[in-house]
Amino acid sequence: MVPTQIKLVSDENSKIEQLSLSWDDGHRGVISLRTLRDNCPCASCQGETVLLRTYAPVPQPELPGKYKLTGAEPVGSYALGLSWADGHRTGIYTWESLRSLCECEACIGER
Ligand SMILES: [Zn+2]
Ligand SMILES: [Zn+2]
Repeated sequence: MVPTQIKLVSDENSKIEQLSLSWDDGHRGVISLRTLRDNCPCASCQGETVLLRTYAPVPQPELPGKYKLTGAEPVGSYALGLSWADGHRTGIYTWESLRSLCECEACIGER
């Protein structure tokens, strides 16, 4: 499953910014930037499992711009790398993880 189009859209009333994704199976979904950042898959956000010991993420102070997206670059043909206004840019979101974060009504209803 691969997205055919990804774009940033913002709601004029609520000012909520979200990614709008079209998928090759015809699905159209949305994911808010807050959800994306809160689910950042990188080791410093999610913690790491090394030799069967789990290291919890180091709590980070919330910097301004944490939920502001500054860039999105494809990583190979399998993922999207996102850059945030607070300088964080280590999160690589695979297509599967993006699909599992989908917040469209149909996906929310299935959960
Ligand atoms: Zn969906
Ligand atoms: Zn992260």
